[in-house]
Amino acid sequence: MIKHIIFDVDKTIYPDSCGFGDEMDRRISEYTANFIGKPLSEVDILRKQSVKDYGTTLRWLQLEHGLTDTDHYLDFVHPVDVEKYLPNKNEVKNIFHKIKVPISILSNGPMENVDRILHFYEVKDLFNPIIDIKMNQLKGKPYTEVYERILKIIGLPIEEVLLVDDVEDYLIPFHDMGGNVLLVNEHNRPTKMNFNQIRNILELPPEYLT
Ligand SMILES: [Mg+2]
Repeated sequence: MIKHIIFDVDKTIYPDSCGFGDEMDRRISEYTANFIGKPLSEVDILRKQSVKDYGTTLRWLQLEHGLTDTDHYLDFVHPVDVEKYLPNKNEVKNIFHKIKVPISILSNGPMENVDRILHFYEVKDLFNPIIDIKMNQLKGKPYTEVYERILKIIGLPIEEVLLVDDVEDYLIPFHDMGGNVLLVNEHNRPTKMNFNQIRNILELPPEYLT
């Protein structure tokens, strides 16, 4: 029985296809190219590997390339004009209001980005706690201590908690710890595991709704 649902934010609450995530990726690549002094074509390949090895590009830049001004990075990569990209305002707002168990946020982005998106959809008040990358000392998903930290705040056994995320690699540790997972896979990309999946947050199974 699911008694709490933890949501990712980027490409989970809004769909991958709306362009917001692409704009963020473009900015991350641009920042990285400037920071490490390599052409964009090379950076895209390096970044893919970095996410596999370090969880996030940010952590890779910190550990391997000496990035220290992490606020500068986080400010640069997150677009401020969210209303230009985010779709389905009323539908998304309604579905979150219909969820019948307590809900929370676990994002690998900064609170500023989380805030803008949750404010746009008018759902911020529904989530408790809201955990961003800075509260995890910039060491976010998929590190297991991140999941342990939020579970401690929620105060429920992991078997009663569902994690919803668009990144399968962020769901695997939670699943291995005994948790329930739901993958948001808009483009039906091939997966490693056989997790339950939906294409869009609006397809959240009715069993979680009132
Ligand atoms: Mg995401």
